Amino acid sequence: MNPSNPTLLGIPFDANSSYLRGAADAPPLIREAYHCDSSNSSTEIGIELSPESVLDAGDLTLASDGAFPAIESAVSELLDKGQAPVCLGGDHSITYPIVRAFAKRFTDLTIVHFDAHPDLYDEFQGSRYSHACPFARIMEEGLAKRLIQLGIRTMVAHQREQAARFGVEVVEMRELPALNKLKLAGPVYISFDIDVLDPAFAPGVSHREPGGMSVREAISHLHAITGDFVGADLVEYNPRQDVSQLTAMVCAKILKEILGKMIAGPPATAAKRRKNAAHGASRG
Ligand code: MN
Ligand code: MN
Repeated sequence: MNPSNPTLLGIPFDANSSYLRGAADAPPLIREAYHCDSSNSSTEIGIELSPESVLDAGDLTLASDGAFPAIESAVSELLDKGQAPVCLGGDHSITYPIVRAFAKRFTDLTIVHFDAHPDLYDEFQGSRYSHACPFARIMEEGLAKRLIQLGIRTMVAHQREQAARFGVEVVEMRELPALNKLKLAGPVYISFDIDVLDPAFAPGVSHREPGGMSVREAISHLHAITGDFVGADLVEYNPRQDVSQLTAMVCAKILKEILGKMIAGPPATAAKRRKNAAHGASRG
């Protein structure tokens, strides 16, 4: 498949959110901020985003029953067409059906998971599909070769046990920066829970957990990741908690930098692209 063809897919689903509803309203607001004229369509690593380079598959219409199979099949359909899904949540439970679709194509997936929370509960408030559980399901089913978590600051004993059981590489917030732990190879999937950021930067989340990353720290870690970005999700933006669309703009910024990395490709491809661009510029 062509990793340079990212496609947005909105997943307006928050039925597995344990504390507050609202994340289902996020996809159109993230899109609006992404297209907002207050900023431009360049990423910091020099990639121009355009409707030709970033496709948009719109938002899913989901019934309360059967949402997970519908999400999995929509993501599979995009992958079948050679597109690289970038899903806009929604609560974090959607990452499980999304990654099920990816695991059918990529047997050696590395997931880099930005979050205040490890989301490794075996079950939470009686549900195994809560937004507190997706990475337990993913690791149980062997859907990823490696899971690297960044920015964690809410570990409880049960989740430490789960992390050890599944071999999760947890980098807690207090251990950052961890730029040198992100030299990866092979297909990389980014799962970005916006609550990894400090609520001062991103108040529009259901679970405000102080002591988080600045937007700059998150971007620096995203930029440091090598490997081939094959897909991503951006989850847990809750517009009902937002202040003056501040968090929507932060979501759009993070989204742009993820898309830029996807289009740039792995380091060798990116170097070639830069060389070609320089060559083209010297001719014209
Ligand atoms: Mn999460
Ligand atoms: Mn979280």
